[in-house]
Amino acid sequence: MERKKQIFIWITWVVVWPASFLFIYNYTDPVFNPDVIWFAVLASAVAFFPIIIGDRPIFFTYGISFAVFLSEGLFYEIILTQLGLFMLMWKIRVPKEQLYRLPLNMLMFLFVSTGAAFVYYQLGGVHGAAVLETPQAVGAVLGYALVQIGLNQGSIKMISKWLYGKREPWVTLGDIWEYFTSLAILPLGFLLFVLYVDIGVQALGLLGVPLLIVSAILRYLHHSRLMNGYLRKSGEIGQELASFQRVEEVLDIFTERVKPLFDADQVYILDIPEKGKMTLIREVGNTGITNKSSRDVTGIPSISRETWRSRKGTIFPDHRSWKNYADIYKKSEMESVMTVPMFRFGQIVGVITLFSSRKRKYSQAQFQLLKILSNFLAVAIENARVYERLKNKEERCGLTGAFNYRYLEKLMNSYQESSVFSFIMIDIDYFKWVNDTYGHESGNEILVQFARRLEDSLDKSSTVARYGGEEFVVVLENISKEEAEEKAEFIRRVITDEPFVVYKHIKAEKEPLEVDLTASIGVATYPIHGDHPADVMQKADQAMYTGAKQQGRDRVAVVEA
Ligand code: GH3
Ligand code: MG
Ligand code: MG
Repeated sequence: MERKKQIFIWITWVVVWPASFLFIYNYTDPVFNPDVIWFAVLASAVAFFPIIIGDRPIFFTYGISFAVFLSEGLFYEIILTQLGLFMLMWKIRVPKEQLYRLPLNMLMFLFVSTGAAFVYYQLGGVHGAAVLETPQAVGAVLGYALVQIGLNQGSIKMISKWLYGKREPWVTLGDIWEYFTSLAILPLGFLLFVLYVDIGVQALGLLGVPLLIVSAILRYLHHSRLMNGYLRKSGEIGQELASFQRVEEVLDIFTERVKPLFDADQVYILDIPEKGKMTLIREVGNTGITNKSSRDVTGIPSISRETWRSRKGTIFPDHRSWKNYADIYKKSEMESVMTVPMFRFGQIVGVITLFSSRKRKYSQAQFQLLKILSNFLAVAIENARVYERLKNKEERCGLTGAFNYRYLEKLMNSYQESSVFSFIMIDIDYFKWVNDTYGHESGNEILVQFARRLEDSLDKSSTVARYGGEEFVVVLENISKEEAEEKAEFIRRVITDEPFVVYKHIKAEKEPLEVDLTASIGVATYPIHGDHPADVMQKADQAMYTGAKQQGRDRVAVVEA
């Protein structure tokens, strides 16, 4: 919300509210009736049971303030509605940055009260016992009720349009609830008034208690509707998670769903890969994913670590209740925290921790929900890991971790006729000499480093595969023949620029040794150099051999046209 609008609201409130209040006092010249205090007590009690639909609390105080209006007039009606409003705002703990809602609502209620009262008087409405003896009062009471509901709805719509630029439909779920509660509450209010006229303040006990019960029942209904919604949602998320096979995707979708579901400002997902070790595998804030790579946090004190230690989840209502868990929290702007352990076959396998900048944000119901979701996540992560492991075994070389020949074949089969791609065939020069000089194990060490160096120097869209022995293939997609040649030259320099290091060599000295290497490289591009991907790869191999190896090694050769 813009600051300007907030300031406007506060200024309007300071100017308009007290003046109107005084004006109404003077104009209506109210007589104080001590019974009003009892009405006020009941109104406050009722306001303490707000039901929040969407983002709008339903205001039950109407019934009582309606009775007070009929009996005592506009001034005391205003006092009651404003008091109820105060209670409600206090109960739902409006955060500091939304404090402008108080003056805004005070003004709105004042406007609604005054507007409805105006219509009431126009229709010949009166106050006190006289209402029941004046025939035209029927129309006035009905008019008042309708105008009140109408003004209330209208001003809420206007405000949400002006403040938030919301383009809501004219009738939302919240509206229906509001119409329904208003319709149910106003006759009750009228009854309260009639009874009050008849038997005095005892009427409050007679009707006030049922009113409290009604609001408690509605609250309960709303709660179970909420729970049903939660359960349905968790079922959906569980199913969705099961359909993803990669751990990254599972984490993506989980945080994407859970963050808004709990309206969390920060989501942390921690993994316990083995006993005594904890890693942060995902951190999501309001600006998106802030941490994706896994980080060892075993030694770092935190709420999540505490959950890991105690194997128990917790809800913390505010900053004070958890700031001592770790020094980094002392300065945090977060308030509510909800943290749950993730279990798999009785073992703790992870922790989920949510932070919110609002106090008292999380309920027991939400806590139960997060526990259910944490089980879904644990299963989904485990399945994804099994899948990834299998996939790895199938597609990657066991020594270097680079893709294997099988994967390369699959990749080539996946290409369309319209695809454009290049092969860069790399054969290390004099590798036999490396084996002979430093030993076979050091040869292996170099092959591993070689694969890593290729992968690290190329972007994610390129594929690095071990073709066999000390030969590697790099596949580049959607680049021109010339760009592929440049890439090949770049790779050649990446190999020669820095020595490789062998640790398990067979030389007499103990220290690791540096080994300088070169490679012979051949480049071929589909579809320029062949009709089938396999032909093109063979061309690249030929170019490597005849154009680079035979010409003296350490060079790049392109297929001759
Ligand atoms: P050049 O390519 O320059 O002609 O010489 P070279 O010594 O590299 O010759 P060639 O390509 O014919 O030989 C490849 C050598 O690589 C043979 C083998 O000892 C070694 N080699 C192949 N696979 C492995 C492996 O997995 N581990 C180790 N340590 N060595 C391997
Ligand atoms: Mg070779
Ligand atoms: Mg070789």
